[in-house]
Formats: sequence, C-alpha cells, structure tokens
Amino acid sequence: MIKIITTRIDFDNYRHSLTQESVGLVPTMGNLHAGHISLLKESLLENDVVILTIFVNPKQFGEHEDFHLYPRTLKKDCELVSQIETSKQIILWAPENSEEIFPANFSTSLTVKGITEKFEGALRPTHFEGVATVVYLLFKITKAHKAYFGQKDFQQALVIKKMVSDLEIPIVIKIMPIIRNSSGLALSSRNQYLTDEDKIKALTLPQTLKKIEELILNKKPYLTFAQTALQEDKNWDYLEILNAKTLLPALPLDVEELVVLGAYRVGKTRLLDNILINTKKVFKK
Ligand code: AMP
Repeated sequence: MIKIITTRIDFDNYRHSLTQESVGLVPTMGNLHAGHISLLKESLLENDVVILTIFVNPKQFGEHEDFHLYPRTLKKDCELVSQIETSKQIILWAPENSEEIFPANFSTSLTVKGITEKFEGALRPTHFEGVATVVYLLFKITKAHKAYFGQKDFQQALVIKKMVSDLEIPIVIKIMPIIRNSSGLALSSRNQYLTDEDKIKALTLPQTLKKIEELILNKKPYLTFAQTALQEDKNWDYLEILNAKTLLPALPLDVEELVVLGAYRVGKTRLLDNILINTKKVFKK
C-alpha cells in the first residue's frame, strides 16, 4: 500500500494520526534504484509503517553543482515503489518545493565538526552542513524510530551517526550494504550522466577498491599499489585506507575494521564508493 503526500500540512496531519506504531524512515533525493529499494525493504521488515522521503535538498549542493539538473522522476519512482509486495503502508512524502522543509526565512544550519573536514567535506565545503540540517529536520518532522542509510555514502553515514549521538536524538540508525550492478559499479542516481564509454572507465573505482582489499587480506603491499594508482590516474579525488570508525589513516593490525574510501571523476561526474574490511578475520589480535 502506498500513500503519496506532497504538502507539509498533509504530512503533519498524517503523522499525527499514527499511534504507537514503529515508524521507519528512508530519506532519499529520488530517482530511485535498487539501492534505495534495499533500504525500503529493510525498513518494511523492521517497522509497522515506512516513510520514504523524496526531496532534492538544495542545501547540500554547492553553487556550481548539479542541483537544477539532478534527475527528478517522481512518477517513475512511485511506480517502482508500488511494485514492492508488502501488506504494510509506505508513505511517500515528496515535498512540492523547498519551502515545505526550509521556509523562506530559515537561517539555521547544523555543523558536525571533525569527521566532515576531510574527503567529501574538503571538496564540497557546505555539503555536510546541508545534509545534517535536512536530516535533522526530517527526523524531527517524521518522528521516526529508525532511519535507514546506505554504506555507499560512507562519510555521510558517519556524520549522521555522530549528529544523532551528540544531539541525543532518539532514533536508531541502520546502515545498509552497497548495491552494485552486474559489473560491480555501485548504483547511483548520477550514473545516468555516464555514457557507455564512461561506464567502463568508471569501473576503475570498484576494481581498485577490490584489488586493495585483496592485497590487504593477503598481506601484500597494498599501500604501494594505492599510491601508484593515485599517481597514475589524475581522475582520483581521493583513495584512502582508513579506520572505519574515525576516518583516520590506519594499518590493518591496529583496527578491527578498515574502510577503503574512494572518489573518482569520470568526465564531470564524481563517483563515490568504498569497501569495508573486517581485519579480525585475517590479523589475529
Ligand atoms: P540519495 O538519493 O542518493 O541521497 O540516496 C539516498 C540513500 O540511499 C542514502 O542513504 C544513500 O547512501 C543510499 N544509497 C544510494 N545508493 C546506494 C546503493 N548503491 N546501495 C545502497 N544504498 C544506496
């Protein structure tokens, strides 16, 4: 069952009418694909009602980024969601305009320090403020009990967890694995900017991450490989092997979980990907 809501007043009235149920939240910017659907399905398994938000948040785009071009495909998104077999109710809340979330005189923004300062945060200085602010508001407006995010945006997931912990927001955050296409490319709404040729070039990202994982797990010289990959291809924005909890550089022996975090440019499109490595399996502590 899917119920579509486009205005804030209708959403608030609907939310007010829900009693006692556990409410799951899946925040998205739409142009849904199997990655988003995996979050939705998990949320349906674990909650009585699920709120799927579709909101292209202007505050998380930089001045020269693709806010106006970002694919808005509400009709197709509704069709995709309608195909999910469930007896539970899915509320698809797609605010008609930004003012439904950020009224014209809105002047507050939320900064999570530290974890936002490198990688995506360094390249997109206002991005995480925009994300934290909208996610905080969505948590507050939806009063959800549990919210679902993708590991695909790994730094974003850590930022949200930190915000929830610092502000003592009563919500459980669940991070779901990355869904990929058959060639290994992580699904992303921005993949549709890629030509067929670009899509082949884009495979450098998952393939390099996978190779680094393999080298680490086989105790081979992964750092030399990563450094050479970075030097030989100017399309990398970053390629790092980090402590998955802190995003600080780390060695396999020192932490229980590493993340290999990468951002790679194909033409004007930036692609993000990562692999988590459980080092306990290989390196006895
Ligand atoms: P977006 O609409 O791109 O803002 O993404 C909405 C949510 O879907 C975020 O929590 C993303 O991390 C998650 N997501 C995006 N792509 C994938 C993917 N390939 N696999 C799993 N989750 C994803």
